[in-house]
Amino acid sequence: MDKKLYLYNTLSRKKEEFKPINPGRVGMYVCGPTVYGDAHLGHGRPAITFDLLFRYLQHLDYKVRYVRNITDVGHLTDDGDQGEDKIGKKAKLEQLEPMEVVQRYKLRYQRNMSQLNVLSPSIEPTASGHIIEQIETIKAILDAGYAYESRGSVYFDVEKYAKDHDYGKLSGRKIEDLYSTTRELDGQQEKRSSLDFALWKNASPEHIMRWPSPWGDGFPGWHTECTAMSCKYLGSQFDIHGGGMDLLFPHHEAEIAQSVAAHGHETVNYWMHNNLVTINGQKMGKSLGNFINLDELFEGTHKLLERPYGPMTIRFFILQAHYRSPLDFSNEALQAAEKGMDRLMKATALVSALKASDESTVDVSSLQEKCYAAMNDDLNSPILIAHLFDGVKMINSINDGKASINAADLKILQDLYQQFVYDILGLQGEQQSNESSSDAMDDVMQLLLTLRQDAKTNKDWSTADKIRDELKAMGIEVKDTKDGATWELKN
Ligand code: ZN
Repeated sequence: MDKKLYLYNTLSRKKEEFKPINPGRVGMYVCGPTVYGDAHLGHGRPAITFDLLFRYLQHLDYKVRYVRNITDVGHLTDDGDQGEDKIGKKAKLEQLEPMEVVQRYKLRYQRNMSQLNVLSPSIEPTASGHIIEQIETIKAILDAGYAYESRGSVYFDVEKYAKDHDYGKLSGRKIEDLYSTTRELDGQQEKRSSLDFALWKNASPEHIMRWPSPWGDGFPGWHTECTAMSCKYLGSQFDIHGGGMDLLFPHHEAEIAQSVAAHGHETVNYWMHNNLVTINGQKMGKSLGNFINLDELFEGTHKLLERPYGPMTIRFFILQAHYRSPLDFSNEALQAAEKGMDRLMKATALVSALKASDESTVDVSSLQEKCYAAMNDDLNSPILIAHLFDGVKMINSINDGKASINAADLKILQDLYQQFVYDILGLQGEQQSNESSSDAMDDVMQLLLTLRQDAKTNKDWSTADKIRDELKAMGIEVKDTKDGATWELKN
């Protein structure tokens, strides 16, 4: 079976065969959240996209070191160099120490990710825990001549860099066009050019998060942390760097420039970007009132939601689109995903109960080949899911006796659903609410009492007594009444 994996590289703009630097090992870095608010849909998509990649690489027997950072300092409210620190602002509003804000939202993010069955990365480093590494990176860039100090801040010299290198190669932007899209703002006299970005910012007296540096008290620029931490944990050349398309410019473009300036070469072999999420066809934004947090989605408490949607429905819905395609959330689409997932999960549960026959009338090997081919084609999860649905028809017809399967094929089919549905797509049954599990308990008890009644009718007293006694041992008391029997939980 051909297990060559092809990934779309944003930098080369084509699918390339994945070849890791060290055989059998993969180093992967993904930009994580800035933890100043609840995790929302926009956090779900990159987390699930790179979780799919992480799981699939492990399925292909790679040892993966997956680093996903937590931004807890340096990300300003204007995503540039002029706003307030997002975490510092929230801390002031809520009268908290900034690290209390970080702790609160980091834990919420991690809880939401675990609800979505997103595996924890191997390392989850924070920007504030790597100030020394960032200062070292900035010094190297200064030494290379691609940065300058100005009033206690250090800026990356984009114009100088662009003379020697291709600034804009990742995002496809041209330096000439960038001048017209950057605004001249107050305080930009500190910079030589409006294109320059901060590596280190001088902290004003009221700024809470500050560290000493060779340039005075301050804090690192947003782009610096990823360059410093990816290099620290994955080396100055590593396999995969991922993130949302919204990070292409300036964040990832700046990361490339910083790495080239600090190390003299590019550090990333494959750049991967997931597309963004829209809601009812609209971009997501606080001002548009369509900013849906993951908790609101799971609880159905947002005004745009007709009802709650379980984390697995969200996961399945995200995986039903290719990660590079846009994805639009709506109640209709989520309800359709929920139905589809239910059908897939029921068949996946059924596959372990199928019985083998002497011969197969189904082609399991070709199904298996198609599943791998879909994943190897740049993680084409919607095509994979379509093949798994073809398999659902196969499973159901074997179960109905309309098709048969031999023991060897049945083993392949069982492994296939175990691996692709549970291990690679990371799907699992929705956690049943207490209400629905007690409904299920009622149904099971009614079934047992009916079986016991049938036994009594057939004068099979030993079966009737056995059911009553075994239930009693489980703490369930059966009482015979003149219309049949009732039951109650003791203890
Ligand atoms: Zn980053």
